Amino acid sequence: MTHSSPGGPSEFAGRHLTVAGLGVSGISAARALAGLGASVTVVDGGSSPAHRERADALAADGIAVRLGDADTLPDGTDLVVTSPGWKPSSPLFAAAAGAGVDVVGDVEIAWRLRGPDAAPWLAITGTNGKTTTTQMLASILTAAGLRTAAVGNIGTPIIDVVTGDETYDVLAVELSSYQLHWAPSPRAHSAAVLNLAPDHLDWHGSMEAYAADKGRIYHGNQVACVYNAADKATEDLVRAADVEEGCRAIGFTLAAPGPSQLGVVDGILVDRAFVADRQRQAQELAEVADVRPPAPHNIANALAAAALARAFGVPATAVRDGLRAFRPDAHRIEHVADVDQVAYIDDSKATNTHAAEASLAAYESIVWIAGGLAKGATFDELVAKSAKRLRGAVLIGADRALIREALARHAPEVPVVDLDRTDTGAMSEAVRAARRLARPGDTVLMAPACASMDMFTNYNRRGEAFADAVRALGAADA
Ligand code: ADP
Repeated sequence: MTHSSPGGPSEFAGRHLTVAGLGVSGISAARALAGLGASVTVVDGGSSPAHRERADALAADGIAVRLGDADTLPDGTDLVVTSPGWKPSSPLFAAAAGAGVDVVGDVEIAWRLRGPDAAPWLAITGTNGKTTTTQMLASILTAAGLRTAAVGNIGTPIIDVVTGDETYDVLAVELSSYQLHWAPSPRAHSAAVLNLAPDHLDWHGSMEAYAADKGRIYHGNQVACVYNAADKATEDLVRAADVEEGCRAIGFTLAAPGPSQLGVVDGILVDRAFVADRQRQAQELAEVADVRPPAPHNIANALAAAALARAFGVPATAVRDGLRAFRPDAHRIEHVADVDQVAYIDDSKATNTHAAEASLAAYESIVWIAGGLAKGATFDELVAKSAKRLRGAVLIGADRALIREALARHAPEVPVVDLDRTDTGAMSEAVRAARRLARPGDTVLMAPACASMDMFTNYNRRGEAFADAVRALGAADA
């Protein structure tokens, strides 16, 4: 029997399913599948008190949990449902392959569980900007009076949304490359790949494998494949995709749009794709000033969201209203305060060089706070592209030497403060050092281009530490 095609909820009754991972998505998958009559075993390598507590809660609902062994396949398993973070190279999957057992993720399960009248998916992936764009899209769809939710790699686990009581007209679905890797079946109404830059290569194994997983989002699209006209790799993925007859390729660009594109003309976001005569006509959607923050990469995000909404038939006024109503999540180019005519911006979510490059491009004269865990990245290209905007740099974290060396190579005039402390006070010192380098009109930008886990629990904590330190500057002056 093959399990690669959707078979509806009854597909899972009586089957022996192994769920890999006792996290949020694993627990959601285990409960949903047990509720459909499957016999479920959750496996996890951990065995801490927190793991035990979660295991006890599941056991009370008749779900078996095996802690302390994440590598061997429970006897009789006929499908493995993995959590997104598990690497394809995990021994459990080798064991599954050896036994001829498929491995799928939560998104695949959610897709297979949809009923015949389920809401279509508008799907979004990309190296950066996924969450922002998905939320913009949900805001636009809501402004159009549609019942929708932002789901996938965001918010409520997608299986819970698909199996819950609430009904939706359409879902805005953020998909990570991990989720796409484990989801062969979903076929979106329309989908967008925002951009493609090396990230998570340790997980995927190579750039080709990463791109191929991202490209799966276009598979089976019905109405539109939305790509970034400034990022050829995204267009190549559209070309390679196997889509429904009549599905269109729609580009977005920060320049004036050609036919079948959305773009920008004189500060106005315009649509030359979803209009009656795309050779001669363009539809005004919104103003650049309606997008928050109005940084170039974020205008691109807004155009991608607008393209998906327009593909779904949403009117232009709803695009404008939805963008106006949208508020970005914390730590994404968040303006914390002005001190001595210097703006302090928290972009802690810039955890890779591609994201940091986008936010560095948004300001003219910058004191850059950077560093952390490099995850195998190199910084030459980022520093070379941003050098002319840098008033100075303050480096923190475990891999700061990599950035220091790139600065020495490509921006030798830029003054650098190298902080060799990684304790909790380091961010305050970094902010004070940045203040000394900044002149009125400058921006102090914390866009670290690195992960945070060497110094902080996560990027939220890093952003909060930055904001606290900035507020302390203001308070010291008062
Ligand atoms: P994701 O969900 O893909 O991680 P987010 O919307 O949370 O993306 O944004 C993460 C970071 O990526 C932001 O802080 C910003 O620095 C950067 N970013 C957002 N959109 C883009 C884009 N279109 N291109 C490049 N960088 C971006």
